Amino acid sequence: MAVLVLMGPPGAGKGTQAERLAAELEIPHLSTGDLLREHLARGTEVGERARSFMERGELVPDAVVLEMLRERATRPDCQEGFLLDGFPRTLEQARALEAELTRRAGERGPISLRAIELRVPDEVLVRRLAGRRTCRGCGRAQHLEFSPPRVPGRCDRCGGELYQRDDDRSEVVQERLAVYRRQTRPVERYYREREALVEIDGDRPPDEVFAALQRAARDKAA
Ligand code: AMP
Repeated sequence: MAVLVLMGPPGAGKGTQAERLAAELEIPHLSTGDLLREHLARGTEVGERARSFMERGELVPDAVVLEMLRERATRPDCQEGFLLDGFPRTLEQARALEAELTRRAGERGPISLRAIELRVPDEVLVRRLAGRRTCRGCGRAQHLEFSPPRVPGRCDRCGGELYQRDDDRSEVVQERLAVYRRQTRPVERYYREREALVEIDGDRPPDEVFAALQRAARDKAA
């Protein structure tokens, strides 16, 4: 079993690249941000517990995220591995993941974990997030300038309505970048110390980033 962790600050391209990579590797793509937005839209208890944190650009409490992810990652499609996007974002989450994988390895044999970090300068992130529009239907992100919708306001893939996430507004973006530096950089160090981290330049055309990601993911299997 193999677990891939795709890391990087908001706007680094995690969601877009993770979706493509998971399809290529034929493993489920588990994005905690997408899962939380689905809970919000459905008005579940998890959604209600997460809402105010998400609106402020802060992290949702570990307990909420861990419970939600455990429910998803124990479904049968995750038995052979999965790609995590936007998780872990705190050291506590990284330790909880390690404990869970150790437990599973005891039952089913070795599990490899590889973390891949997309590195992108802050000023590029801010530009990407300001122009990002997200589909209400399928959750896919487009960019007003870099991947403009064919029909204004509509998703190229499913025709759903494109909207600006509340947390992509500039005031909240600064907070999310600060949260990343404060709470998630230590997770990068955690994986680097375990020699489980590969860093990739994410400030390149999407196809080049994808090719680098594929190489990094394949190395893992070797
Ligand atoms: P994202 O779509 O990954 O940018 O996530 C959007 C928001 O969801 C974040 O700003 C957090 O409020 C929340 N969130 C997503 N993943 C996590 C996580 N692993 N831990 C805590 N909060 C999260």
